[in-house]
Amino acid sequence: MSRSAHPAGPRHADVMTEGHYTAPPADLNALDGKVWARTVTRDEGGTVTVGGIEVTRLAEEFGTPAYFLDESDFRARCRAWADAFGRDADVFYAGKAFLSRAVVRWLQEEGLNLDVCSGGELTTALDAGMPAERIAFHGNNKTVAEIERAVTVGVGRIVLDSFQEIARVAHIAQRLGKRQRVQIRVTVGVEAHTHEFIATAHEDQKFGIALAGGQAAEAVRRALTLDGLELTGIHSHIGSQIFDMAGFEVSARRVVQLLAEVRDEHGVELPEIDLGGGLGIAYTSEDDPREPHEIAKALGDIVTRECEAAGLATPRISVEPGRAIVGPTAFTLYEVGTIKPLEGLRTYVSVDGGMSDNIRTALYDAEYTVALVSRTSDAEPMLVRVVGKHCESGDIVVKDAFLPSDLAPGDLIAVPATGAYCRSMASNYNHALRPPVVAVRDGGARVIVRRETEEDLLRLDVG
Ligand SMILES: *Cc1c(COP(=O)(O)O)cnc(C)c1O
Repeated sequence: MSRSAHPAGPRHADVMTEGHYTAPPADLNALDGKVWARTVTRDEGGTVTVGGIEVTRLAEEFGTPAYFLDESDFRARCRAWADAFGRDADVFYAGKAFLSRAVVRWLQEEGLNLDVCSGGELTTALDAGMPAERIAFHGNNKTVAEIERAVTVGVGRIVLDSFQEIARVAHIAQRLGKRQRVQIRVTVGVEAHTHEFIATAHEDQKFGIALAGGQAAEAVRRALTLDGLELTGIHSHIGSQIFDMAGFEVSARRVVQLLAEVRDEHGVELPEIDLGGGLGIAYTSEDDPREPHEIAKALGDIVTRECEAAGLATPRISVEPGRAIVGPTAFTLYEVGTIKPLEGLRTYVSVDGGMSDNIRTALYDAEYTVALVSRTSDAEPMLVRVVGKHCESGDIVVKDAFLPSDLAPGDLIAVPATGAYCRSMASNYNHALRPPVVAVRDGGARVIVRRETEEDLLRLDVG
């Protein structure tokens, strides 16, 4: 798309914005159910509620910026994944997307397992009572202390990411008198992003052991000989925010091929295959994510077909959705502070948060939408860029969106689909205080992660 067209003025109906052709939505007051948590609605009188509570009331009680998480939506999504995959498969929620003790309890109640990738995540999981056997431990450089802890508490699986780690975990397990269940993470030569996937011959990334060149087969060979390890399967995770199942298809085929090679060489049929996470969600109205039952069916069909072709019994499948469960369940509520119209370009709307509570726009060029939620407006749409209060010009929350042109300081605006990788990646840049996460359900709201205070900041500063 051409960049040469001069961007139209903020009131213009259609604008060309840095490669995106963006038209204002027909009705700025409408909240697209695709990108908002399930119980978010705007009633006839224009009042926006979540879990039956008015957002203006939530702002008064909990302040801004804050993340509001729709607990019933979170639970419904957990159940949808668990039901879709059924008894013959396991769903592991990827804790890195967002983890807290309340989340761990919800996962347990809804029958999900949990992926962790650090000692801190493991501590949170155990502290909230997740049984160790329902936890999988990930990471490309787990420390010796982390491995010792994971083996000691008896996590259900450790996903091995390198040759050093195969030896390290085996050694630690043996020393502790244990046999640790493990999977080997392989890189299948497929990388998936959003609507496309790329099959690459070479693996230029830090995770996993390449299938190419027989590396993964060698890893299996070693793991099978070590007493401290019980190798149960092969793991593959191909990317994130994926809509196209073709990448999973190639990945499953290659993993099953390895299982067949392992059977031929060692006479062992590994009983598990993990296809990772990465399923996409709707950040904007343009995204069309798949439902868990479609994903389960597609993955199940692929694995069954490939195993039949290879003469293997179908292994137990597991998946690891993070974003697809928590992402759509939360929005970030901000208060508008300043409004700066740049003639012929766009209007900069500054909010009371920014890259410290949502780094994804700066980090990945992520796209978001935004809506005025403290009132309705019939004013003309204006093209805005929602920015934070940090000392970086790249401190952008929403790159291109439309808000009503009568927007004023003190208005509350909300950015949907911020449940995943926002609070979990939040920082204290500029000594910002990280916002709270408030769970809302059936007319009740409670803080599950409290807002940081200046005392919290000073407590760490011991110089
Ligand atoms: C990040 C990650 C996930 C979760 O990814 P989502 O995009 O949040 O679904 C699952 N498995 C592994 C190994 C990961 O690294």
